[in-house]
Amino acid sequence: MTTTDVDLVLDFLNTVDVGKGTDVLADEVAWPAWLAAHDLTAATGVLAARVALRSAVGDSPPAPSDLSTQVTVSLSADGPHLVAGDVVGAVLAAATRLVVRGEWDRIKICPAADCRWAFYDRSRNHSRTWCSMRVCGNREKARAWRERARAE
Ligand SMILES: [Zn+2]
Repeated sequence: MTTTDVDLVLDFLNTVDVGKGTDVLADEVAWPAWLAAHDLTAATGVLAARVALRSAVGDSPPAPSDLSTQVTVSLSADGPHLVAGDVVGAVLAAATRLVVRGEWDRIKICPAADCRWAFYDRSRNHSRTWCSMRVCGNREKARAWRERARAE
């Protein structure tokens, strides 16, 4: 299975599903299946890596620790490319390519407390806030309306 950098970063960030209360990293069946589906090998510190990466795209609370991993630059006839040894390296290499392509700030976390889904903002001016206007956006609008109505 070939995965784009955006898909890999989002899939990794969304291994935790706040809405469903599930966490692929904590599931001894789902996590190896996830790795196999992405053709990646396990790594130590993968939970810390996810916390740091989610924090880096705006999830709260911000992670206090920095994250670093070993990635090699390899040069072939096609040009230079990043070679990662494990899942953390692969995800960070993908994230780094998104930075280089100017797409990093399009990776966002839905601010709804019971959602926190990571998504790619495809809007022209990078203005999207919610994972889905239909679900979280509307729910937030309804909540704000109820609060205004109560205050009046
Ligand atoms: Zn949402």
